[in-house]
Amino acid sequence: MSAPVRHWTAWCVALVAAALAFCAPAAALTRDDADAVAALRTGDVFVSSRELGPEVASTIAQRLQEKVDAMRANGYEVKMAIVSPLNGDGAFGYARRLRTRLHFPGTLVVTTLNGPVGAAGERPPNALRAAFQADRVNALGSATERLSRAAEIAVPAPPPPPSGWRGLVAFIALALLGAAAAVGWGLHREQRRHRGVADQDRGTLVLGLDALQARLAALDARHPSPPAEAGDDLAEARAHHSTGRAAAQQSGHAFDHTAGFTALFSGLRAAARAADALGDPFPVDRPLEGLCSADPAHGLATEVARLADGESRVPVCAACHDAARAGRPPRRRMLPGVDGPVPIDEAHLWPAASPDTPGEALTR
Ligand SMILES: [Zn+2]
Repeated sequence: MSAPVRHWTAWCVALVAAALAFCAPAAALTRDDADAVAALRTGDVFVSSRELGPEVASTIAQRLQEKVDAMRANGYEVKMAIVSPLNGDGAFGYARRLRTRLHFPGTLVVTTLNGPVGAAGERPPNALRAAFQADRVNALGSATERLSRAAEIAVPAPPPPPSGWRGLVAFIALALLGAAAAVGWGLHREQRRHRGVADQDRGTLVLGLDALQARLAALDARHPSPPAEAGDDLAEARAHHSTGRAAAQQSGHAFDHTAGFTALFSGLRAAARAADALGDPFPVDRPLEGLCSADPAHGLATEVARLADGESRVPVCAACHDAARAGRPPRRRMLPGVDGPVPIDEAHLWPAASPDTPGEALTR
């Protein structure tokens, strides 16, 4: 081969390589690309309506926006996208290109309806890949959860890892603050192991709902014809209770923590307002207090007895008292825990501080 021809060939190779390098990012983008760029240039969230239809997409976008807002309140700038299925170098490459194109300095997380999550931000991609893998982010069935979890992990300098029940308590304490719920969820959930967490949260929610139901039953029994205002609050509490039950019955990844706990705490607040008005108050931040120690679902504690697994006498319902007297002391209700079932009063479920000043004291 002569020198000019070699040169010519080299030029061709270089040209083709340059063309490929230039085209490759575009080829790897999705049909949503222009839409995603447009939406994320001005907003924080993009959800592909091609995949989900406009109505569902808008609902999901709203939920993601809440998450973004909560993280922003905590000083993190995040954008989130659910796009059409990706090809090329996948979600990480897409996130990186999108972030570059948007000149976005914060953290961008992206996924598809059923695909893996990718992220681009201050932290190096390899560290993020490893962190996602360790946290099994891609095992989460819901794209919304995958993005939320990924965002928590991907933001720079994550807060120190609370774990297990302490994390859950912090979450509940913050959930009492209403708007802060998502922040608490974000901060404290990220280090928790996936396996069993949904069951544990659901168990906690169901326990809280049982306590609320027991409160409502006790109020109904004591005040069969409440004045109108208290009656309205009771009706509101019952409606929130039903909403919470519906949320708790969703299985697996369909279980919506935020919806469930929001309904629970709204219900407790409404019931507490009614209880105050009826002169029969209970502490809204310690919803198990005054209920049977074996199981709050039994209702108000009117006696004391020693439980099968307890050393001292604790407040119990009449039935548990009778059972204990008959030599069949009841066992405390167990809740699913990440490391196995936990008795309810070791679970440190409820913050002892008021809803306005969630504190560190924990047990009922
Ligand atoms: Zn009982």
